[in-house]
Amino acid sequence: MVTSAQVPRQAPPAGPSPTGPAPAGRHVTQGRHEPPDHLPGTPVPSVPLGPVLVPVSDLHPTPVDPDAVPDVPSGYDLTRLPPVAWWLRRRSWQFQLILPNQILFWVVIVVGFVGPEAFDDNFATAITWFVWFSLVFVLILATGRGWCAVCPFGGLAEWIQRGRLWHGRGTAGRGLGLGRPAPQWLARGGYVTTAVMFGVLTWIEEYYKVSDDDWPGRTSWTVIGIIGFALVAFLLLERRAFCRYLCPLGGLIGVLGSGAPLTGFRARDRSVCRACTTKDCLRGRDGAYGCPWATWPGGSENGVNCGLCGECFRSCRSGNVGLFVEPPLAALTRSRGRRADVAWTVALLGGVMVHQHLHVTAWWGSLDVWANDLIGMPHGPNPVLFVALTAAYTAALVAPVLAARYLFYRRPPGGLPDRGTSFTYRATPLRAFLLPALAAAVPLLGCDYLCVELLNLFQDSPKVLPAAGRVLGVVHGDSSHASLELLGTDAVVHLQWVVLALGTLASALAYWRVSAAEIAPVARAPRAVQVGGVALIGLGGALLVWFYTLTQGAAG
Ligand code: SF4
Ligand code: SF4
Repeated sequence: MVTSAQVPRQAPPAGPSPTGPAPAGRHVTQGRHEPPDHLPGTPVPSVPLGPVLVPVSDLHPTPVDPDAVPDVPSGYDLTRLPPVAWWLRRRSWQFQLILPNQILFWVVIVVGFVGPEAFDDNFATAITWFVWFSLVFVLILATGRGWCAVCPFGGLAEWIQRGRLWHGRGTAGRGLGLGRPAPQWLARGGYVTTAVMFGVLTWIEEYYKVSDDDWPGRTSWTVIGIIGFALVAFLLLERRAFCRYLCPLGGLIGVLGSGAPLTGFRARDRSVCRACTTKDCLRGRDGAYGCPWATWPGGSENGVNCGLCGECFRSCRSGNVGLFVEPPLAALTRSRGRRADVAWTVALLGGVMVHQHLHVTAWWGSLDVWANDLIGMPHGPNPVLFVALTAAYTAALVAPVLAARYLFYRRPPGGLPDRGTSFTYRATPLRAFLLPALAAAVPLLGCDYLCVELLNLFQDSPKVLPAAGRVLGVVHGDSSHASLELLGTDAVVHLQWVVLALGTLASALAYWRVSAAEIAPVARAPRAVQVGGVALIGLGGALLVWFYTLTQGAAG
């Protein structure tokens, strides 16, 4: 496997491009380049490629071995439906998706500052914490990166970076920004940094009580902060490096959505991609940008790295890109191309969630008070304790896998496959156990994240209606919203049981499959590893059910 970093660059050729003058604009790179992922078996183009409408990237596209995957992907291609294909062909497609959210988020920012001070009555807080943050997890479990397609944070920054709202008929636009590749130290870690960023955002949200019964302007400042952070990153780095390496939700969405039925835009026939000399899907062409996520549809196995922007569907001259749906868990249980950054992101997100659960307990409260007294902080969560305990919980979640590796690892005949030396793909005995096991934990973890929000969704989300009425001037004063609850507390807790049971079942099933396919060949007692893992997943699910019952649904 070869990464873009290992590929020597070609010098731009002298003389004019044979395909005509390049469209004017900062985002036009003239000359001849190799595709950013010079893939094994893919001939280096032998003809000049002419203008490239976006800078050829060092965004570390996923290395893939095209010979290791079947040519025709499994699943149903939604673009076979004429209305879907017609809509996706519109160059303004993603703009149409982002615009409503963009308007909504600016309304949130303004109303958070100028609206009612009561948290429940303010439209900004009601829609952000009672509706958006709940529905985003539903969207993740159903569509994977569906949120990324409509995200107003990246959307606004990308419009500014490109200098236009969508690709013009022939030109890419005059954009702003330096278009620098992401630094190696950042890119090497893959999604791990995004999981750390999620932990930081969680701490900020808890410390400043952004989502609690407090001043709604804090919600506005949080949204402004994320938009500002995204904008700076988009102006410094190329394409959507922000989404892949820095966005606090970037890894969480990709990883928790990796078992979703929507498995992203992928090649309809990989043999066509292998023979393709232009790689327009990565480089862009007249009327479409190259993939902002540096994902090659010819090698993509799931939707983890696909932001669902549809540019590759529009740019591929061979009409070889489709949007695939598959049965839930299908992509998750595929053994090809497992990545260590994804596994460690699962572990870190699990550690953050365990911390979220335990910080509502009395013992954590007294520990937090003690730690705050020690370093003179006015209130918690204490940052040192937050980091230390989250790291400890992450380690505790990984410990059984570590134990299994030392107890059961058996060197397979011929040794482990050669997957290079990178952090992301290197093959080691621990990783042979860790990567499939943590992939299998995704459904339960995703359901846990969703359950934390169910109380808000079913008891508080109706408050958004009178809050919106206040913005429109048709509702005046405060009101009691108790009668607007969609479900009582008992019913929400029962629903949480159901969701957690489904998550446990899905994780157990996924683990049974992946352990049989991937761990058994390197395990001394494969059946014990399989049964033990399923038992641990069952125990985790049971503990969560017990905890949600104990806290009456408010387990975070
Ligand atoms: S998706 Fe289209 S443009 Fe990209 S490599 Fe395949 S055939 Fe070429
Ligand atoms: S693979 Fe296609 S749809 Fe997915 S992010 Fe890249 S260009 Fe957009």
